[in-house]
Amino acid sequence: MRVHRLKRLLLFGPYIVFIITLVLCMVLFAYLRREDEKIEALEEEIGHITVNQNGLIEKVSSVDSSVDELSSAIAAISNELSLIDIGAIESAKSNASSVSDDKAWPRRVYLTFDDGPSANTAKILDILKKYKVKGNFFVVGTEDPELQKMYKRIVDEGHVLCMHSYSHRYNEIYSSVDAFTADLDKISALLEEVTGSVPKIYRFPGGSSNSVSRLPMKEFIKVLDERGITYYDWNVVAGDATNPMLPADKIIENSLCDLNEYEEAMILFHDLANKTSTVEALPAIIEAIQKNGITIAPIDDDTIPIRHYTNNN
Ligand SMILES: [Zn+2]
Repeated sequence: MRVHRLKRLLLFGPYIVFIITLVLCMVLFAYLRREDEKIEALEEEIGHITVNQNGLIEKVSSVDSSVDELSSAIAAISNELSLIDIGAIESAKSNASSVSDDKAWPRRVYLTFDDGPSANTAKILDILKKYKVKGNFFVVGTEDPELQKMYKRIVDEGHVLCMHSYSHRYNEIYSSVDAFTADLDKISALLEEVTGSVPKIYRFPGGSSNSVSRLPMKEFIKVLDERGITYYDWNVVAGDATNPMLPADKIIENSLCDLNEYEEAMILFHDLANKTSTVEALPAIIEAIQKNGITIAPIDDDTIPIRHYTNNN
């Protein structure tokens, strides 16, 4: 039995071994195939990753090149800026502002005070002294010895003493050339007596464009010309001639609002005894003018004649 079984084993053994080997090979092949597929899938994934990575690299490099372009643009602009003359720009700016300043504000402002002297004249002189500015006083005649001292004080403190008639009575002064001349003689003599000299500046009561004169104004101007006396009117009105008295804030507003209209501004104030709001307003007006760098000046030979009179008057 054993021999028979051994013979059968020897006969079928190789077949069995072959079949087992074949099955093992098939299993192994299937396994390898599956692993291959896995590897392929992995490779594909890696490929995608690589593609994405390349895309990223591409994007990064394009950002890089944009940054480079930006940098060179900035460098170019910096270079341009360095070539621009900053001094010239500053100078142009200052010229521009000075041009606009010229337009916005006058070259000089003249503070003129009519109808004094009075108790307010001393207060105004104190204010002008405090701000170190010179004014122009168009005075009338007075018989009060105390007030007459004001003529002298005006001159002594460096202000311009000017005439504004002796009587300030329109109906008398403008009634004839003789009457006008007599009045002029009277104020000239008084001021010469007190101060030692006759002023060379005059302002007509009511201005050279007044409508009360019975004669043409050129008749009176001729009298002044013969004596070498120059007359001035005004181009800015503080508005303090009115009754009742104008409040100080209104006087300030009136005095400043029209200044930019003129290359030289001559402001008309009044230093009569009842014009206390003018005294009150004066410091703020001076401060505003000085704050804008404008010179407050006494009338001199360079002052532009500010006159209302024309040949048609
Ligand atoms: Zn007057």
